[in-house]
Formats: sequence, structure tokens, C-alpha cells
Amino acid sequence: MQQVIFLGPPGSGKGTQAARIAEILQIPHISTGDILRANVSRETPLGQQAKTYMDRGDLVPDQLVLDMVEERLKEPDAQKGWILDGFPRTVSQAEFVEEKLLDSDGSSSGGELQAINLDVPDDVLVERLLARGRQDDNEETIRRRLQVYREQTAPLIEFYSDRGQLHDVDGDRSMDEVTACLKKAIAPE
Ligand code: ADP
Repeated sequence: MQQVIFLGPPGSGKGTQAARIAEILQIPHISTGDILRANVSRETPLGQQAKTYMDRGDLVPDQLVLDMVEERLKEPDAQKGWILDGFPRTVSQAEFVEEKLLDSDGSSSGGELQAINLDVPDDVLVERLLARGRQDDNEETIRRRLQVYREQTAPLIEFYSDRGQLHDVDGDRSMDEVTACLKKAIAPE
């Protein structure tokens, strides 16, 4: 069972690449940002609670996100593996993955988990995000999201590196080059 986590700052291309790799590996691409945005637009109770945080560029509180991910990973399609995009985003979320989500097949340890760090310089990130123009892609929110990434998510690079589960990939190249490199990193033949 292949379990892949995509790390990387906003604008690093992780959403695009996660979707491509999911297609190649034939496992679901689970984006917490996409699920949250769908809840916001459907005005569900979860969406109504999450919206304020998202509009500010802050993280949505763990208690909302953890339940949401746990439910999604119970779906039948996730039993043969998954790609998580945008989760975990904090050390406590990463610990939740270790405790609750790995080993659903009953095996002993999370040996098959792989984390990808898509590395892209800050000036390139800001340029890409401003060009994308999603609702939360204004300059102030972008600055806040990059700060949140550095403070809360970047520590996960060390977390997965310490466990020998990290692949560092240069994301400042063409989309096809990045995909090729990821393919090699995740599923070496
Ligand atoms: P990006 O990586 O471009 O910032 P995402 O689509 O992954 O965008 O996430 C958008 C927003 O959704 C985040 O700024 C945050 O408010 C919320 N969010 C997504 N994933 C999580 C998570 N794992 N924990 C808390 N909040 C999250």
C-alpha cells in the first residue's frame, strides 16, 4: 500500500504534481485544501467554521481537519493507498498520521510512507501565486500563508528526514521535469 505525503509551500506546484502522481500510481489524490474549499462553497457547518481561517491564510484548527481526513481515508478507494496534499501541515498532524492512519492494512510499521518536499524559492512562489489568482491568493494572504508554512509546516521536512522517509525534489523546473523526477523518486524501477 503506497502512502505518499506532499510537503511544499503554497505555490510549489504540489497540487498539480500530486494529481499527476496519483494518476500514475492509480491511487486517490486527497487535497485537504480542495475538501475544505468544497465545504466552504456548499456552506456546510465545517465550511462555515473553516472559512474565517482560510480567508486570513491561517491554518484551520486540528480538530476540524483531523476528523475530515480520518473520514476521507475510510472511503473504499483509499484502502489501496493514497496521496495526501496539504496534510499533514503541522507536527501534531504528522503525529496523528503516524498514530492513526498508518498500518490500516495491519502491517507492523509505516515503512511504505514516503514524503516529498517540493523545493521552490520564495520569489518564484509569490510570482506563481499572484498569477494563479485563487480567492485566497491576494498579496497579504500569500505573505501570511508563506509565514505559516515556514513556522508550522517546514519543521515536517526534518520530521520525515529523521525517519528516512523524505525525498527532496527541486520544484523550480518545468512541470514535466518535476513529474519525471517525482516518478523516479517514488517508484524506482
Ligand atoms: P496552499 O498550499 O496553496 O496554501 P491549500 O489548498 O493546500 O493551499 O490550502 C488552503 C487553505 O486551507 C490553507 O491556507 C488553510 O487555511 C487550509 N488548510 C488546508 N489544509 C490544511 C491542514 N492540513 N490543516 C489546517 N488547515 C489547512
